[in-house]
Amino acid sequence: MFALTAGSEDSRPNPKGNRLIIAIDGPSGAGKSTLAKRVAKELGFIYLDTGAMYRALAVKVLRQGIDLADDGRLGGLVDDTEIDLCERDGELAVLLDGEDVGAQIRTPEVSQMASKVSALKKVRARMLQLQRQMGQRGSVVAEGRDIGTVIFPQAEVKIYLDASPEERARRRYQELKAAGRQVDLQETLREIEERDKRDSERDIAPLCQAADALLVDSSSADAEQVALLVLDRIKNRTKINQ
Ligand code: C5P
Repeated sequence: MFALTAGSEDSRPNPKGNRLIIAIDGPSGAGKSTLAKRVAKELGFIYLDTGAMYRALAVKVLRQGIDLADDGRLGGLVDDTEIDLCERDGELAVLLDGEDVGAQIRTPEVSQMASKVSALKKVRARMLQLQRQMGQRGSVVAEGRDIGTVIFPQAEVKIYLDASPEERARRRYQELKAAGRQVDLQETLREIEERDKRDSERDIAPLCQAADALLVDSSSADAEQVALLVLDRIKNRTKINQ
């Protein structure tokens, strides 16, 4: 059974007492995680990295060598897997059946597998349920692909963060290099484009901008500029801290 604990006892209402949802969607490498973490920290909200949940499941699929066309085995795996997100020393820990897999979920192989498993109906149905449960635990900043369109269509603030594929590939390449991995920029760009295509063309909950989301292009802005713009939008929309 999947289980997600990201502070079930830890309900964090905003200063006015009601719970708020900030939805941040966009393709890989646009800067969603940096932005979502920064905003969550600034406002004292729960940070929900939905991509990490798909990645944790992908780690298990890869370890067990499961064929994604094998509905029976995959269904069994979804039912028998526990995925927890929790905060440890101010960082988000990703627990797969109790094991912290945070160090293993960012490889190119896991990225591609996460994108593949995330297109499957059974997986998405379960993640939807879990992510909505989390939204009831307090004010959250949730990042992913379908947060503002499917998971929390009622979110108070929706941001669609984008950047050119070249810029996103350059950032991902730098990140992987800094983590000591052997990477090639052209290959990173190819992988990003492949993942974008799969994520935006799938039948269920494809990546797309919600009609009421603010489009922010981070191609030529630095992370702090983007964060300040988004925090300003949140303050105007929610009257938080006013
Ligand atoms: O955001 P991140 O790159 O960590 O997500 C990994 C993969 O998980 C994405 O490529 C996407 O296929 C999938 N995902 C998704 N829906 C979300 C979050 C992630 O389909 N809400």
